[in-house]
Amino acid sequence: MSLNSKNLGQDNHPKQSISIDVNVNAIETMLINGIDQISNYQKKNPDIYGDAIISNLQKKKKLIYNINKHEEIFINNQKNNLIKIFKYLKFRYKFYLCGIKKIDLGHPPYVLIEPVSTCNLRCPFCFQTDKSFTKKPFMGVMNLDLFKKIVAELNNLEVGAVTMGSRGEPTLHKNLDEMLSFLSKQENIFEIKINTNASFLNEKLCHTVLKNNVTQIVISADHYIKEDYERLRLGANFEKIISNVDLLYNIRAKYYPNSVTEIRITGIDNERNLDRKKFHDFWIKRSDHVAAGYPVERWNTYENTPHEDINDPCDYIWDRMYIWFDGKVNPCDADYKSYLSYGNVKDNTIKEIWDGEKLKKLRDQHLSNNRNKIVPCDRCGTSFCK
Ligand code: SF4
Repeated sequence: MSLNSKNLGQDNHPKQSISIDVNVNAIETMLINGIDQISNYQKKNPDIYGDAIISNLQKKKKLIYNINKHEEIFINNQKNNLIKIFKYLKFRYKFYLCGIKKIDLGHPPYVLIEPVSTCNLRCPFCFQTDKSFTKKPFMGVMNLDLFKKIVAELNNLEVGAVTMGSRGEPTLHKNLDEMLSFLSKQENIFEIKINTNASFLNEKLCHTVLKNNVTQIVISADHYIKEDYERLRLGANFEKIISNVDLLYNIRAKYYPNSVTEIRITGIDNERNLDRKKFHDFWIKRSDHVAAGYPVERWNTYENTPHEDINDPCDYIWDRMYIWFDGKVNPCDADYKSYLSYGNVKDNTIKEIWDGEKLKKLRDQHLSNNRNKIVPCDRCGTSFCK
């Protein structure tokens, strides 16, 4: 297996897949073989994105954009459900384009919902170490009815991907099972992802994740050596986390042979000296996909020195929305204290908030080279320059 890294994200702080090759040819062949079926579907559900994908397949025998490992795993897990795969590719293509081309799709294609804002760990690179943050009004738990209201609207808007998690550890929510069950019943949400530190990954939670067809569980684990891991994941026990991840891996193998759940290990190379091969070899035995990246300047975002060299418009204000536990809407979690909040789903619909003046103004500022006049956009360190 080669050690080529493939860029998973669109910003310059992506998690890089380690030692992974994507078999694009197999996917392209499957799509070309099924082109009549796909074209018939597209005729009944026309849009420019699907048309472009089909046209490229017909003329160049290729997908119109480079798919990554995560997309490959998702597609392979769909067991040749060609129309679902095509709808998924349309969604991913739109998601990819709206960020880099700054296209307003009329709704966020991707939404991150925060079940809780608290976390049981205190990783040194994370804003959970900011004591002015880990108290009221920032800490709290999402009400189940609010969650369902949000998800129902996301489905109506055809938001293609939802992640559970943002500032806190989502598995701390006592109704996570019901939340995932509700989420998994939505027709238009393709990807359901959970970000977790795996501290609470017991048998019950493993079944909750697997039976509700979570498409990706992303486990934050920053090292393969106990001492380093426990220094970086302050409060976690290395052996316990390994045993929890093994439990998930083994339950999936034993009880869910047709599972659609990708298990991904993600590391933050905080000290920029992680041996990626050793990290990969350690974790790939108990997962499908191992990635590592460098930390974005997160803690303390607000006190960072402004980056004079970074002033490119931020993709996040076109390609995603964060919804905190209390309904507050934000463009990112680098701004974990919500200086940039542009609404609250308790007061307005998601569509109204997305179309609202506050977000429009933020986009205009970014597009007119004035990102560097906004705190914390001027100092978060996120850059999308290609
Ligand atoms: S702080 Fe501004 S520039 Fe940075 S990630 Fe958030 S929205 Fe984008």
